[in-house]
Amino acid sequence: RELVSADVQGDERLIEAALRPKRLAEFIGQPRVREQLSLVLEGALRRNRPPDHVLMSGPPGLGKTTLAMIIAAELGAPLRVTSGPALERAGDLAAILSTLTDGEVLFIDEIHRMARPAEEMLYLAMEDFRVDIVVGKGPGATAIPLEVAPFTLVGATTRAGLLPAPLRDRFGFTAHMEFYDQGELETVLHRSARLLGVHLPEEGAAEIAGRSRGTPRIANRLLRRVRDFAEVRADGLITREIAAAALNLYEVDAEGLDRLDRAVLGALLRKFGGGPVGLSTLAVAVGEEPETVEVVAEPFLVRQGLLARTPRGRVATAAAWVHLGLVPPPDAFG
Ligand code: ATP
Repeated sequence: RELVSADVQGDERLIEAALRPKRLAEFIGQPRVREQLSLVLEGALRRNRPPDHVLMSGPPGLGKTTLAMIIAAELGAPLRVTSGPALERAGDLAAILSTLTDGEVLFIDEIHRMARPAEEMLYLAMEDFRVDIVVGKGPGATAIPLEVAPFTLVGATTRAGLLPAPLRDRFGFTAHMEFYDQGELETVLHRSARLLGVHLPEEGAAEIAGRSRGTPRIANRLLRRVRDFAEVRADGLITREIAAAALNLYEVDAEGLDRLDRAVLGALLRKFGGGPVGLSTLAVAVGEEPETVEVVAEPFLVRQGLLARTPRGRVATAAAWVHLGLVPPPDAFG
């Protein structure tokens, strides 16, 4: 199922780095975020001060890391990269904060997964550019204040709702990343094809874009699989038919659903008459962990209008029956 997972796999990091837009003007899509961000950056550059802290929220693979790099590039500032899970103790964060240089951009990916003590240290650093290092334990413990160079925090999260309010409130600006539309994904694909030296006709790009789940990372990955197929099984030309055949081979269907998505929908319809059914029951029916079903399959199925989450459980929509070519029982939507 890996092909349409939005997570990074294997040596994909290297290819992704090569395909990353380097400046804001090169960044495709997200028009609102781009405009908001360019104002924030422009203002900061004019005042010759670091901009407000920026929070980016949205599903994986939409370009949050790319934007963090762009922010640093546009400011002409160095970038330090870390992630929430790496900041287990306050000391981990203190080590980073105390070595930041003036104006540096600190990117914390998955910021919602930071440990509590580190989080509290971050509040103070964001607001006052200082941290309190606690030395010793119990009644003898003392806090030694330490200055931090003015920096810009860029936080990324797939679940903005999980951020504690005090942290959320300390960001001057939140960029809500949206799924990309068909045209934007085609533009991403044409750009990547150019960088990879792949000839990509319009019709091939359209076919791949339609199966990319609104996500540039997936679009780029599907492009590489289609390229292999076109080179090995055809004369290298990515026609609509070749793209479709390649992606069918990898079990990515016309709407971008993969095997797990179809298994979840199929179980919901065939075994539970379209629901409602509880998440864990549904997960057992497809032999997966509930979390996999919830985090990997469901957001996309919900977005495609195929599945709904209700207080009583998961429910298939009329479109789900149509998508799998099944006939709903007469009382299904009564
Ligand atoms: P994660 O949080 O899972 O790391 P992310 O949202 O940070 O994901 P990125 O790593 O920034 O996503 O982007 C994934 C890939 O998609 C990159 O290789 C980049 O080339 C491509 N990409 C993302 N956004 C764009 C865009 N707007 N234009 C062109 N390519 C893009």
